[in-house]
Amino acid sequence: MENITVIGAGVMGRGIAYVCAAGGYQVQLVDIHSDQLEQAADEINKLFEKSVMYNKLTIDRMQKAIAAIQFSMDLEQAMQSADMIIEAVTEKLEMKRSVFEAAERHASEHTVLATNTSTMSPTEIGSFTSRPDKVIAMHFFNPVHKMRLIEVIRGLETSDETVEKVQQVGAQIGKEIVVVNEFPGFVTSRISALVGNEAFFMLQEGVGTPEEIDKAIKLGLNYPMGPFELADLVGLDARLNNLKYLHEKLGEKYRPAPLLEKYVKAGRLGRKSGRGVYDYSSDPKV
Ligand code: NAD
Repeated sequence: MENITVIGAGVMGRGIAYVCAAGGYQVQLVDIHSDQLEQAADEINKLFEKSVMYNKLTIDRMQKAIAAIQFSMDLEQAMQSADMIIEAVTEKLEMKRSVFEAAERHASEHTVLATNTSTMSPTEIGSFTSRPDKVIAMHFFNPVHKMRLIEVIRGLETSDETVEKVQQVGAQIGKEIVVVNEFPGFVTSRISALVGNEAFFMLQEGVGTPEEIDKAIKLGLNYPMGPFELADLVGLDARLNNLKYLHEKLGEKYRPAPLLEKYVKAGRLGRKSGRGVYDYSSDPKV
């Protein structure tokens, strides 16, 4: 395994590209929007500079890793050379479908086809190809360079060999792995979506200010981040997409809070748009 292609250069894709390059892989990061690729390059460079500043990488290693990442809008070419494709496009099934149908056309037979979906079924995504044994969910966490876990989810047809390859990549990029069976939302997104949604209902009901609710959860329940701080980091649109999917699959308790929908309609998407529950207009991006 040498070449990893990451599809989607948003919040997650750029983080995944960074950890893969830092771990010694040749990486191609693909997006359909050139501005996303430019922002990704900028953020990745800043992350590398910080790694050198905190003695996590040598300057030599940083330069090699930076040189190992290519930014591209040519999906076909980037898929052809990949030993592993990690899809990190928007959490909408039809968008995942188009990427996996393209992988079916362009990727080699041996290529592992991983999805970074937060909630969706790797079995269903595997059915978009004729090689479901190579398809697997590889769920990274945000921010990717700091979070230690990859939650790996096998689809019905995922082979042991595919699971092993993902475990090897995880070890090489310094992550811990947990392998779980398929169910909507897996382990982490199911819990996180419920907690985050409940916080929006509380805000809507006037139970407290965002600051008070976040402080209560952090200091009272020992969570490292408050639910609104986390929602702003994850992206309110990403959180809403997860809830819509879980609502459809698992029922009423995942119905998105109307206030969350209202924030997304207003373009308050979190840190990435400069404003979510909190205002980040004066904060640096990374
Ligand atoms: P995002 O909106 O920040 O980025 C998505 C990117 O995909 C955009 O840059 C978009 O231009 C690009 N894109 C869309 N269609 C494409 C295509 N056909 N080819 C190439 N690029 C395409 O989204 P995100 O928050 O990075 O989420 C990506 C995936 O990761 C989703 O499945 C999400 O559920 C999952 N995820 C997100 C988080 C999080 O905290 N944000 C955490 C874990 C998993």
